Amino acid sequence: RAKQDGRGCYKFYSEGMNADGVQLLTLERMLRLALERNEFELHYQPQVDAVDGRLVGVEALLRWNSSDRGPVSPSEFISVAEETGLIMPIGEWVMRQACRDAQEWRRSLGRDVPVSINLSARQFRSRDLLAAVQLILDETGLPSALLELEITEGLLIVDPEEAVDVLRGLRAMGTRTALDDFGTGYSSLAYLKTFPLDRLKIDQAFVRGLPEDESDKAISRAVVALGLNLNMEVLAEGVETEAQRDFLETAGCQVFQGYLHGRPMPAADLMQLIRSGALRLE
Ligand code: C2E
Ligand code: MG
Ligand code: MG
Ligand code: MG
Repeated sequence: RAKQDGRGCYKFYSEGMNADGVQLLTLERMLRLALERNEFELHYQPQVDAVDGRLVGVEALLRWNSSDRGPVSPSEFISVAEETGLIMPIGEWVMRQACRDAQEWRRSLGRDVPVSINLSARQFRSRDLLAAVQLILDETGLPSALLELEITEGLLIVDPEEAVDVLRGLRAMGTRTALDDFGTGYSSLAYLKTFPLDRLKIDQAFVRGLPEDESDKAISRAVVALGLNLNMEVLAEGVETEAQRDFLETAGCQVFQGYLHGRPMPAADLMQLIRSGALRLE
């Protein structure tokens, strides 16, 4: 069981811990071992075109199958990885694995499936980001247009000028960029137009209450309109019901991601759904 101590650090008890709590294994140490032991895995969640239901991409979501603790959710370990700096090697692993998988799909399907990955704050602020992305694209052979990098609003606000430079650099390389969890951070609407972003992802917090909740209706309509007016593609996250999808489609939302269209799944399952025609690429 995870426990939070006063400083916000998570400590995980190992199997053999006795009543005195002598053997404490910190989450940091476990994450380090997880990399060495290959305990990470990527699951992929479909992103589907609102009009024709085509698969337009997948989001790579990190999974940790801990040998000690079983599956651990990213919400439990990403923030610790970020604080300790371990997100750098973990994030690099994610990027390389996602690009490898996407390149393998091109090879085996003869079709392109764009892949999105989540960038943490530390990765986005790293001086080496552009070089690291380019290196992995070169190494895997994945065309840059098939890679999308997701960032959150918070990363743009701290140093907007620097953020614009990084986003411009990514765009110059041909990769796509998306603003994740939109609406939950410090929405700086005035700033938004200055950032070169390809896609706006409406947070599931505003999708959940659709189509009943009046304020969620107003917010999601406004966010869709904002994104479209700023020439971004608008995607809704966390779409679970047909009623939510219908509302969002009427509002002008172009892409859906959520349990309605598919849960995050191992690469092999994704391939199976594409091969069987359950997910259509055209
Ligand atoms: P996110 O990037 O906003 O990813 C969407 C989250 O919503 C995922 O949770 C996904 O499983 C979940 N989700 C998708 N559709 C639905 C739905 O219809 N209903 C509900 N209730 N949930 C849905 P997950 O996989 O647990 O990831 C949580 C967060 O962890 C992600 O949020 C992202 O911020 C972070 N994360 C995941 N993988 C990585 C990674 O490789 N690197 C970094 N830096 N962060 C990651
Ligand atoms: Mg995301
Ligand atoms: Mg999100
Ligand atoms: Mg989220």
